[in-house]
Amino acid sequence: MQQLQQTFSQCEQIRQGWKMDDDGAPTLTAVPIDTRNQMRVVTIAAIASFCLVVVSGQLKTMAGEIVAVWIAAGYLLGHLLTVPRHRKASVLIGGFVGNLAANLLGGESLYVSLSFTACGLIEVCAAALLLPQVHSANELIVPRILFRFVIIAGIFAPLISGLAAVLLLEGVFTTHPFSSFSNWVISDSLGILIFTPVTINMISGEWRSFLQPGSRAKSVALLLLVGCVTALIFGQNTHSLLYWVLPPLALLAFHAELSTVLLGILICISIAVPFTVRGTGPLWLIGFHTMEERILALQVFTLAALSIVLPITALEVQRHRLLVLLTDGQRQFRTLAEHTEEVILQLDPDGVFQYVSPRVTSVLGFSASHLVGAHISGLLHRDDVARVQLAMRQAASVQSNESVQYRIRRKDGSLIWVRSFMAAMPVGPGDNKPSLLFTLRDIDEHILAQQQRDAEQRRLEDLAYIDSLTGLWNRRYFDVEFARRLMATPENGDDLMMAVLFIDVDYFKQFNDRYGHQRGDECLRTVAKHIQTGIRKVDLPARYGGEEFVVLLKECSLAVATRTAERIRGGIEALSISHDSSPFSKVTVSIGIVHTTDLETSDAADLLRAADAALYEAKRLGRNRVFHWQGHLAA
Ligand code: GH3
Ligand code: MG
Ligand code: MG
Repeated sequence: MQQLQQTFSQCEQIRQGWKMDDDGAPTLTAVPIDTRNQMRVVTIAAIASFCLVVVSGQLKTMAGEIVAVWIAAGYLLGHLLTVPRHRKASVLIGGFVGNLAANLLGGESLYVSLSFTACGLIEVCAAALLLPQVHSANELIVPRILFRFVIIAGIFAPLISGLAAVLLLEGVFTTHPFSSFSNWVISDSLGILIFTPVTINMISGEWRSFLQPGSRAKSVALLLLVGCVTALIFGQNTHSLLYWVLPPLALLAFHAELSTVLLGILICISIAVPFTVRGTGPLWLIGFHTMEERILALQVFTLAALSIVLPITALEVQRHRLLVLLTDGQRQFRTLAEHTEEVILQLDPDGVFQYVSPRVTSVLGFSASHLVGAHISGLLHRDDVARVQLAMRQAASVQSNESVQYRIRRKDGSLIWVRSFMAAMPVGPGDNKPSLLFTLRDIDEHILAQQQRDAEQRRLEDLAYIDSLTGLWNRRYFDVEFARRLMATPENGDDLMMAVLFIDVDYFKQFNDRYGHQRGDECLRTVAKHIQTGIRKVDLPARYGGEEFVVLLKECSLAVATRTAERIRGGIEALSISHDSSPFSKVTVSIGIVHTTDLETSDAADLLRAADAALYEAKRLGRNRVFHWQGHLAA
């Protein structure tokens, strides 16, 4: 058996000594188990339990074998709830040793001492098993946990402990202190309800807040008030003023920390018990016959006082915590809002500014206070109002990461581009619609630079497609655009036909020879201009090379195409640009026309070849004329 225990203890040591490596796998790097710490816990628990059992016993002796409040159980439970799981056994061992020793030294037999100790440990273990581990008394006082604590530790655990005590000790004593089951349960309940939070408070170090200047003076004054009022009430025998103890306790609950409140209750009971035992106080004015009845009444009264002050303290702690959270949140928000490059705005559901961060002054020129209460639409560019309102509606209804860019008016009247992200604030109580949180960033320079870049880009692209001499589209652009228009799916109502004009200046070589290249260039510019004025906006004119031009006539019948070609030819002839070397004595052009009504099967190269062939015919027939190609398009 001993061997088995040794093996078990070694296994436990190894388990606790394991460390995890980087991959999370356990390694057996030896970490010496902290036996010294375990021993320390055992010793502390033993000494504390010993002392508190002695003190509780003193209270018992004082009250004539009636226990007013059993504080040893409260301590042990408080210690158990705060230590990690692997230390709980040490606390229990210490508690067992301290309890047993105090009882034995108090003159009880081994059986009675063991029974007392066992009953004490049963309630503490039962409560510790059913309650969560806590790190501070403030955790215990969260309403949900406080409720569990009161039911489990304040009622259930003392009841089973009391039952165990009755079972184990009934009949052992002739004048034993356990004849009253209720006295056991109530004294343990009081001890646990008061002393468990006090112990947790001590272990967690929360008690130090009592020492803080400011709170210290107030707490001491309130404790003094509780002590004085209790002493006054319990030190006299003429007035039944028992319930006047409650107001100073309630005042304490509103103004002090949990530990101070519980200290107040302890002070109260520590004053009330001796006075009552010595024969003074309001409990002697009510018709009690025995001391046991008086102490029971005092216990019930203390429970009632606890049931008043604990909820008040719980609510106060929660309120304080919320206030701290709120203040922290506000401080963080303000710091963030005031030190970010963006302006932070809060708008109510109708678009009225509720909060504007100070950064707005450097972005828009307005002071923040000037904008609060104003409507956002008053600052927007007319064309952007609908877009911003749509973005606001979307932000109010769905979570969105989309931003919106718009123009906003500055104080000096100028407009700048800004970008905003919008988010709906959680709806507060009584609000139907959420207010909106905006960030607003000045992107004016960025947008203007972008617009300039876009314009430059377009200009460069155009340059690559424009003939520098005439300003018409060049052949590259024409080829691309012609192919695109042939491929484009016709829209409803489009007339599925088009025509191509191939225009060539007659005897232009001779013109150059006669008048020089410069005059030749001028002549080409004039011809190009004339071509452009003779066609519609939807048509596509281009210089196809040398003195050759091409025009794509969109949605155009053959009759219209012929008329257009004739108009161009006649118009150029009518310009009467002198050309001595031409039989016409002026500059003329010949034009070849090709017309198609079958865009789907037409091919750009075929159409151009046909137009060229038509032009060739016009030349062959004497120039200065229009010729329509009627042959087959296919090569
Ligand atoms: P045709 O009536 O048969 O068209 O005879 P043409 O002399 O007009 O035709 P040809 O193809 O023999 O000559 C075209 C001339 O156009 C040759 C060239 O000197 C001239 N040319 C081509 N590009 C330019 C230009 O950019 N500027 C000037 N000034 N002349 C050009
Ligand atoms: Mg030519
Ligand atoms: Mg020519």
